[in-house]
Amino acid sequence: MKLENLIAGRWQYGHGEGLPLHNPVTGEMVASVSCDGTDLAAGLEFARDTGGTALRGLTYAQRADLLTAIANTLTKHRDAYFDIARLNSGATKADAAIDIDGSIYTLKTYARAGKTLGEARRLAEGAAHSLSKDGTFQARHYLVPRTGAAVLINAFNFPAWGLWEKAAPALLAGMPVFVKPATSTAWLAQRMVRDIVDAEVLPDGALSIVCGGARDLLDHVDETDVISFTGSADTGARVRTHPAVVRAGVPVNIEADSVNAAILGRDAAPASREFALLVTEVVREMTQKAGQKCTAIRRVLVPAAIARKVTDAIADGLAQVKVGDPAHPEVTMGPLVSRVQQTAAFQGIATLLQESERRTGDPSHFKPIDADPGVGAFVPPTLLYCAKSATARLVHEVEVFGPVATVIPYASTADAIALVRRGRGSLVASVFSSEAEFLSQMIPAIADLHGRILVVDAAVDSKHTGHGNVMPTCTHGGPGRAGGGEELGGLRALAFYHRRIALQGSAARHEAMARDGADAALLTT
Ligand code: NAP
Repeated sequence: MKLENLIAGRWQYGHGEGLPLHNPVTGEMVASVSCDGTDLAAGLEFARDTGGTALRGLTYAQRADLLTAIANTLTKHRDAYFDIARLNSGATKADAAIDIDGSIYTLKTYARAGKTLGEARRLAEGAAHSLSKDGTFQARHYLVPRTGAAVLINAFNFPAWGLWEKAAPALLAGMPVFVKPATSTAWLAQRMVRDIVDAEVLPDGALSIVCGGARDLLDHVDETDVISFTGSADTGARVRTHPAVVRAGVPVNIEADSVNAAILGRDAAPASREFALLVTEVVREMTQKAGQKCTAIRRVLVPAAIARKVTDAIADGLAQVKVGDPAHPEVTMGPLVSRVQQTAAFQGIATLLQESERRTGDPSHFKPIDADPGVGAFVPPTLLYCAKSATARLVHEVEVFGPVATVIPYASTADAIALVRRGRGSLVASVFSSEAEFLSQMIPAIADLHGRILVVDAAVDSKHTGHGNVMPTCTHGGPGRAGGGEELGGLRALAFYHRRIALQGSAARHEAMARDGADAALLTT
């Protein structure tokens, strides 16, 4: 089955046989993709002219209704999406739910929040202030929807959520979406777009999809467009420095890789709740989606005195994980999405082993359930222990995108802070402690290098939403190597799809502008 692209309002096949998409359990080809020979410049133009014009003709509240209609359409076809996620990503039902139900939840969250902006077409920010002695000449800031296309380039690990967590704020802001999913898992995103288009939920041109390589897509972006990218730091750097992107000053949001840390407080004894909660979370983070989450815990910082005990407890938890074909009812962890990813993960583990020892995950004793390890893209849950924490470098630099984490002992709070900061910018850190002094030192000292910090203390206990779980109402993104981007955070995300202008003019001019405007302060509610 060759997947079609939706470009310039027409479903069209690319030339040639295309690139194959595989079932990562059996190695069988499940689909192919190509956009060769399609006119991406014309596709972007159509999105801007037809899709953008139609969307901006609506109010925020009307566009919020479109998001509800998208969520309802996706809900209707939910079962088909779970099948595709299993066949093309090797996802268990629970893992697919994070991607699929996470998409629907995010869309509904934006639909609800978007309604609060009402029948407005722009956002007025702050009060007008006078620029003349008699007050006749005034200035005020406005956020106006951009008139180009939102070019969304996504990673392979969240084919559904990666699309909708970006598309929801873009569409709500009034920008048409031009999405390029990662090739290896493009099927799910393509099927969702097809369902939305078939249901005639959105105006023509509001949603386009191009499958296969990005080809010359970025050559055709202009000053009205934005790019939101998720993927590796290397590709992100290429996107950011693309000549057309630089020339046109196109805003680029980058969500890249990250070596996220979980930190156990110095107060946590082996019998404490914090100890148990950290162990549960590390096991979950390592094995959920087979560790293929940008937010997954990669470094586990623990007090040196109990480091071996933590390692043993995590290893005991990992021993309960059943790896194999996600179609088997007992299986709780599937393969990576492809043999390419499997090879990259094994290489990454070999690199980390230069400085660490292996506690679990010996591949020579690994037999996935109902699957041939010589064919499938399986990686056993691999826990490493880094005794040389004072000098180790690789553990802070190498992101192994699979079920892999390393325990790193620390000697003091200052030591732990320094080790966390060696990640050079992460999406998320979690701190498991109930000691006020430890928390009041740790959190401010690492805050500038993180997009999100999860604090699990006795008051929160198990009622938290998870280290790696991205909530649509909370900011997602991290500084430094994590890309420097910022997504979600509720309506805050809309700012990226608007342009802030200072309008200088008479009071009457401002009255006219504000008549169609909602209060930009709503973006932070
Ligand atoms: P990737 O290889 O960098 O690819 C990301 C996307 O960029 C894909 O759609 C890819 O298309 C496209 N691409 C590649 N070269 C391009 C170019 N020259 N111009 C435009 N687009 C181009 O990353 P990945 O392997 O899919 O994803 C894994 C990485 O993503 C991990 O490092 C992970 O940490 C990161 N990630 C980050 C987040 C976050 O929110 N921060 C979330 C998920 C994943 P093709 O597939 O066709 O090559």
